[in-house]
Amino acid sequence: MVKRLMEIATAALILVLAFSAPAYAALQPGGPSANGNTNINSTLSYNEVIKILEDIESSSKGQVEVSTLDQYGKSEQGRSIYVAKVGTGPQKIWIQAQIHGNEKLVTEAALQLLKTYAKSGDKDVEKVLEEATLYFIPMYNPDGAEMNIRHTKLADSGKLIDLNRDWTLNGFEAKESEVVYAYWADVKPDFAIDLHHQGLKQVYGTNESTSFSLGISLAPDGPTLPGTGYNDITKQMMAYVYDDLKDYGYTHIDRYQVWIDREKGTAYDIDIKGGVVSAMMMGLNYKSLNPENHSHPAVFFETKGNSTDGSLGQKSNGYLTKQNYLALKSLVHGYVTGEVEKVNPEDWYNIPYYPLAGYMTDYNGIVPVGPDSGY
Ligand SMILES: [Zn+2]
Repeated sequence: MVKRLMEIATAALILVLAFSAPAYAALQPGGPSANGNTNINSTLSYNEVIKILEDIESSSKGQVEVSTLDQYGKSEQGRSIYVAKVGTGPQKIWIQAQIHGNEKLVTEAALQLLKTYAKSGDKDVEKVLEEATLYFIPMYNPDGAEMNIRHTKLADSGKLIDLNRDWTLNGFEAKESEVVYAYWADVKPDFAIDLHHQGLKQVYGTNESTSFSLGISLAPDGPTLPGTGYNDITKQMMAYVYDDLKDYGYTHIDRYQVWIDREKGTAYDIDIKGGVVSAMMMGLNYKSLNPENHSHPAVFFETKGNSTDGSLGQKSNGYLTKQNYLALKSLVHGYVTGEVEKVNPEDWYNIPYYPLAGYMTDYNGIVPVGPDSGY
């Protein structure tokens, strides 16, 4: 019975904490505070995002192509999902933001990067645009964004769906998942980055509030990732970003982990198969839209704060957006130029992290750390 209760509690915690740790927001001193009244007017609405995309497209001299995914469908509340395409090279890079509607600054970071690519001029940017084509989805969840909630809401039942748990073989519940998945299966990217916000936490062994966490949704050297073939490349990507950004002002970067126990000094890595970037790495074939099981490495970034729990202060928005922008730009450039592949995968362990208590999974509760896991 106790074990069963533990399992239930664990499952609930996974749902609450994975890709987001708002439960810790109240526990951490010293973070930015908006006294619970985050001003979401300082972030972009759906209509503002569309306007910015159109402005970028029209001033880009044909470099940026903005379109909707309407041919695949619309959101539950009937909104179009937008994509912007830039670059002419063969490597396809997928950047998605705001799959969680209350995680807002990431959209701005994605749009800023798109603007940089639209302007060009700079050598590094030219190189990226020659070698790659980038697909930006700056607002994956427009309904959640407009409601300022994490989820989308099913039109027929009113049920709330976390779009980052909906890419499963059991079937997609929300229209947004069907739309974006079908587009993904057509594009067949080579690499993806997913942008999120998290609650407040501290870098292990310090009193520094984490400003940015680097995440891989199937734990490196864990139960699932080595079997995908992307164990080394995802670790190299994150080590590359860490090295590039760790000395940038005001950033305190660590590994994305959940269920941090500061007394014991331990935490859990996530190993979640229903997350979008996990499904990409596992080559999910849903409704026979991906019959060759196309797959690719994919990682995610977590920026401090979200607009629901009031942990996002206007003062800090500028630098939080900037570090996200810089990390994105750095990783895209490192990937395109092949610099990422020169990194020692074991440098992943240079990124600060709490000693591992186990893996939080969405398929088998908590999985203990194995003897060969390297921890
Ligand atoms: Zn999120």
